[in-house]
Amino acid sequence: MTRLRKLPIKVSAGLGLSLTDRAVKEAFAARCMASDLEELRNYFEAGGEIRCFYCDAPEPSRWDHLHAVTRGGDTVPGNLVPACGRCDDSKQDRDIDEWVRSTSKHRTPTGHLAALQDKVAAYRERFFYTEQAFETRLTPDQLACYQRFRTKIDTLRRHLESEGLLRPSTKRVRS
Ligand SMILES: [Zn+2]
Repeated sequence: MTRLRKLPIKVSAGLGLSLTDRAVKEAFAARCMASDLEELRNYFEAGGEIRCFYCDAPEPSRWDHLHAVTRGGDTVPGNLVPACGRCDDSKQDRDIDEWVRSTSKHRTPTGHLAALQDKVAAYRERFFYTEQAFETRLTPDQLACYQRFRTKIDTLRRHLESEGLLRPSTKRVRS
């Protein structure tokens, strides 16, 4: 049991801005019902227990988006995979090949990339899922709107930094 071991979540202004951006993107994404997860669990359970899609660790605790919501991914079978917290936190919003080629701690080893990509292809085919870039989901008008919103978010970020309310980001922000 890990009850009462964690501090309440810390939300920085930077994270708040990133989450606002994600919320806007999420409005354009598909989302399955919780009841659809049963079919998904059955798929991943086939031949044994459910394991982390990336590292094979037992009892993964999260559903990770193969293609991140911030990049146009959907919360649906074909894009959700069971992941351990370590892999999920390490991968962040990147696609698998970028993650594998990164220097992030706990990334999947390069030698596993081809097998992992085969697994992804089979999984997507089974659920008829095709990856789509966020920008291609929008009409030209919507894209122009989104770009104005992005400019405002970036301006707000710089404003908060110059006012000393947000530390300038040196690290990659999850957005
Ligand atoms: Zn893992």
